[in-house]
Amino acid sequence: MTNAIVVGSGPNGLAAAVTLAQAGVEVTVVEAADAIGGGTRTSELTVPGVLHDHCSAVHPMGIASPYFRSLDLESHGLEWLHPEVDVAHPLESGTAGVLHRSIEDTAAGLGRDGTAWARFFGPRSENFDVLAGELFRPILHAPRHPLALARFGLDAAAPATWTARRWHTPEARALFGGIAAHALQPLSRPTTTAVALMMIAAGHRYGWPVAKGGSRAVTDALASLLLAYGGSIETGRFVRSLSELPAADIVMLDLSPTAVAEIAGDRLPPRVARAYRRWRYGPSAFKVDLAVDGGVPWINEHCRRAGTVHVGGAFEEVAAAERAVAAGVMPERPFVLVGQQYLADPSRSAGDVHPVWAYAHVPQGYPGEATDTVIDRIEQFAPGLRERIVGRHVRTAGAMAAYNPNYVGGDILTGSNDPLQVALRPRIALDPYKIGIPGVYICSAATPPGAGVHGMGGHNAATSALNALTRNNSKDYIS
Ligand SMILES: Cc1cc2nc3c(=O)[nH]c(=O)nc-3n(C[C@H](O)[C@H](O)[C@H](O)COP(=O)(O)OP(=O)(O)OC[C@H]3O[C@@H](n4cnc5c(N)ncnc54)[C@H](O)[C@@H]3O)c2cc1C
Repeated sequence: MTNAIVVGSGPNGLAAAVTLAQAGVEVTVVEAADAIGGGTRTSELTVPGVLHDHCSAVHPMGIASPYFRSLDLESHGLEWLHPEVDVAHPLESGTAGVLHRSIEDTAAGLGRDGTAWARFFGPRSENFDVLAGELFRPILHAPRHPLALARFGLDAAAPATWTARRWHTPEARALFGGIAAHALQPLSRPTTTAVALMMIAAGHRYGWPVAKGGSRAVTDALASLLLAYGGSIETGRFVRSLSELPAADIVMLDLSPTAVAEIAGDRLPPRVARAYRRWRYGPSAFKVDLAVDGGVPWINEHCRRAGTVHVGGAFEEVAAAERAVAAGVMPERPFVLVGQQYLADPSRSAGDVHPVWAYAHVPQGYPGEATDTVIDRIEQFAPGLRERIVGRHVRTAGAMAAYNPNYVGGDILTGSNDPLQVALRPRIALDPYKIGIPGVYICSAATPPGAGVHGMGGHNAATSALNALTRNNSKDYIS
């Protein structure tokens, strides 16, 4: 029987494992931490009974993932829950830009920009599944829908600062800018529109849901499916070298390119080792989880009902903050993402004490303390928050890297979304999952289609491995 080892149990590692197991491969997953899940863990971090997502929180890419949609994860405990409002972006005037799953409701809230919003995002959300089929893959492929892809490419190549000129109201511009800031790049860079387009189109097609019980439910469901296919999982084992692993036909590495270079050592072809060592990491996250009595007292009522709140002020302010962190400067008023998953999933709260998830974009490897900066930033739009905080848990950029080695320097995306790396990741290659050692593949968020909880990097890498096995009809043992 063909066998495989998967190193790392993030959503990509587990998606790779399930893809292989579905094809009849005997799969073992090896995970360094004591718990599976990588960027999807959930647990009590502040006060008993209050459940916090350690990393990922909202899942437009999870619900939209072509691979996840092909699996019956619901039978393994995954349930997507939708907040009343998907995203709100408050402004100092007291108003907010608001994203609803319904494009009509979104347009209705954007005044004179409503029509332009619907015209721009409508066709892309209607076409989302076709686009996802093309975009959740490596860029170098023969497209099945070249026209749809070309049309997307033309718009997506523009920096967010250009695209934002389509709108005139502060609400529409800020809403778009806050979503583009998920790229963690200066908004003047190409690729920032691409990220916003995908996230907004996915939002209008499927919403920005949370997973019932916490993001861990996504990887718990994948793990349950893997076990049902006969796979196994070993936790608490940090892999330092490929030579530590038992003989296997396929090895999947759910790791950063620099870690792959370390672990593979001399076995890696020099050109691949060079490319992986040159892989660039982007800005970091400074995470603050709060237990808040009565929830966040937002001034804007849409924010009180939103699963995600982007705290960044006007478009220009978001752009300035993102420009600063990319240049290595900590902004006085950083861009802060706030998650209120409990609104859709009350099971995460203890009585009236609710988990509030927040992180600020900070420079790569930022060594400083930013807890008060994050709380002050939210307080600008929700005065009185501080008095309601009954518990807090902080993870600095350094602690983020220690928590998960894939977050090098605290970069939660496992690699900078600069244009070259978005297009050709993690190196220039027809099959970017191959690392140049027969049977060994990289499948983390550093591979196409990039960061997020969608499992597509893992699924694509495993498909590549299965295709190679079929083509060769022979076994390449790694040790
Ligand atoms: C604060 C934060 C907020 C985020 N918000 C969102 C969000 O809302 N929505 C979204 O879609 N995405 C979000 N993300 C990103 C998302 O979590 C990641 O892109 C995703 O988890 C990447 O999956 P992965 O499988 O590639 O790697 P990971 O999830 O990072 O998993 C890698 C696994 O490999 C293990 N590992 C590493 N090295 C070794 C080794 N040497 N030996 C054995 N095991 C090893 C790690 O312990 C880890 O479990 C967020 C991330 C963070 C940190």
